[in-house]
Amino acid sequence: MADIALSGIKKAYGKAEVLHGIDIDIKHGEFVVFVGPSGCGKSTLLRLIAGLEPITDGELKIAGKIVNDLTPSQRKIAMVFQSYALYPHMTVYKNMAFGLTLGNKGPLGGLLGGGENKKLIDEKVQKAAKSLQLEEYLDRYPRELSGGQRQRVAIGRAIVRDPNVFLFDEPLSNLDAALRVNTRLEIAKLHQDLDATIIYVTHDQVEAMTLADKIVVVNEGHVAQCGSPLELYHHPANKFVAGFIGSPSMNFLEGKVTATSEQYIEAILDYDGSTVQLPVQSRTTKVGEKITVGIRPEHLQEGVDLPFQLKARVNVVERLGDASYLYLENGADDPLCMKTDGHSTIKSGDTVEFSANLTAVHVFNADGNALTRTTTDDRYTAPTLSS
Ligand code: ADP
Ligand code: MG
Repeated sequence: MADIALSGIKKAYGKAEVLHGIDIDIKHGEFVVFVGPSGCGKSTLLRLIAGLEPITDGELKIAGKIVNDLTPSQRKIAMVFQSYALYPHMTVYKNMAFGLTLGNKGPLGGLLGGGENKKLIDEKVQKAAKSLQLEEYLDRYPRELSGGQRQRVAIGRAIVRDPNVFLFDEPLSNLDAALRVNTRLEIAKLHQDLDATIIYVTHDQVEAMTLADKIVVVNEGHVAQCGSPLELYHHPANKFVAGFIGSPSMNFLEGKVTATSEQYIEAILDYDGSTVQLPVQSRTTKVGEKITVGIRPEHLQEGVDLPFQLKARVNVVERLGDASYLYLENGADDPLCMKTDGHSTIKSGDTVEFSANLTAVHVFNADGNALTRTTTDDRYTAPTLSS
């Protein structure tokens, strides 16, 4: 069992602190994805867990034991990097077996030691090759493989070492779009087959959503939110997570609070000067404060059947077949985006009315923190609006 617990983890390079106190609990067998924009500290965090860099402050526990001072190989962790770093002069077989014959000389150490017998190594390589569908390629050289196959060899090299924990740092970012989807599925299947914990780093929120049991959104060296993909999607704790998870991004409308009561707040939107009532707790905002209203493109629909209503001119229509995205004029700000079905005849230049359920509307206070909704009932209408 390899539960992993990070508490108060900090990392500084010289005077520059890049991780500011990270707390994360990972259960044995979980697939955890660290996601966040480039430079937010994902790789650094992974390297601290792997033991490739010293931890500046805080505690890292694996299976209940503090491992801050253990070497990478003592931690029984295997890391798969973005650049596959295969040995070009070695066959696939040799590439996979190499880590096992290295003893403790390699960067992550050999788990079996130099004297381990050939038969055991062969068994491990064959088994890994089978699970990665690489059996036919064992005699080939890396240059004779596709990008996806090379990535699988790199993963195989990690598997043969029987680690408790696999760390992946953007393993798909060198692959083209189709291969990315394929390899993503393979990694998901691998996780089902192996009884191992996986920590996976990516800047791609779609990868995070599709692979993770648990997503850790990292922003500027802090954890912005940690939760299941759907928790983050439906209940983002702050504006950063709301804008980062989901594609196209959530729409944001600025406004100002004009009245509050226990169950809802009233705000005037900069967008069109309209007043909206929103079913959120008023405790963390007050009259006169700026708020941001967030709505996902897929929660807006044509017509005025739902209580949250807006009207706008269509600037651009993107037709994808199954769906179309309408980009709506929004003054100087980013355009608003609305998802509509692929048969919609709306074209650029049209003015459309559209609406959303109040329970699909997110409200963030001036600090960017989400206000708690007071109802989850889609039929809810705020006091002075009628649907
Ligand atoms: P990510 O993987 O999320 O893109 P990184 O963890 O690579 O981000 O980097 C986080 C921050 O730490 C960046 O500002 C980066 O410049 C800095 N950083 C990373 N490695 C070093 C290093 N060896 N020395 C100094 N600064 C570093
Ligand atoms: Mg990185």
